[in-house]
Amino acid sequence: MYLKLFFLVISIIPISSDFYSFYKKTTAVIDMEDVYYLNKKYSENELYYFYKVAFRENSYDFGLLKWEKNELSLYCNGSDFEINIVKNIISEFNSKFEKIIKFNLTNNKDIADVNIFFPKKSSLINSSFVRKHKLGVTIPTNQLYTNMLKKVDIFIKTKDMNKLRMKNIVKHELMHSLGFKGHTYNLPFDNTILGGTNYKNNQINEFDYKALEILYDNRIDVYISKKKFHNKFIRNKIFQFDVY
Ligand SMILES: [Zn+2]
Repeated sequence: MYLKLFFLVISIIPISSDFYSFYKKTTAVIDMEDVYYLNKKYSENELYYFYKVAFRENSYDFGLLKWEKNELSLYCNGSDFEINIVKNIISEFNSKFEKIIKFNLTNNKDIADVNIFFPKKSSLINSSFVRKHKLGVTIPTNQLYTNMLKKVDIFIKTKDMNKLRMKNIVKHELMHSLGFKGHTYNLPFDNTILGGTNYKNNQINEFDYKALEILYDNRIDVYISKKKFHNKFIRNKIFQFDVY
């Protein structure tokens, strides 16, 4: 009887915290003050780009994804050539994004927040993951019951790649590793890291910077749903590029 009671108690814990997380998700709001603040600070196109890349594409999304900390350790599992590419990109990211978030290269894969793998021909990962996702894939893991990131794994294709292409793919996937789940294929965003003709861009664009700034703004509740954001900022606006 006491034993039964004990099991009952411990089995309730996850259910109640799950309920708490569900409760947070359904009560997250963008109030009038936030709407005013974002509309004043960002252009319509900047808010649109954020909307497209921060939420999951072609589906409902019940919240954003981001890191709680602003310094991430990154482990690169690759050749000297590949490590060098990653190093260069990290310094570019750090110089552009330093006010928001920063990457530090580590030699210890066990403590790394972000792991980048360059699987070689014979490995299982290269044949399954990369064949399916073609060039690169980012796999985020979030903390239990929250939308905060815990760990991210990135896999980059290594076969038939030139340096520029590999650089652009690493840049694209690293951008995903900061919490961005989507892409946009609309014209004004063609030169952004997560926009348009993926993997062709090699410059961090102003839209990328602004999207990151919005995602990591303390006013932006991580539990805001895609629908709520759409209702406040996207609906009732005509975006010129929608005609394409
Ligand atoms: Zn992508």
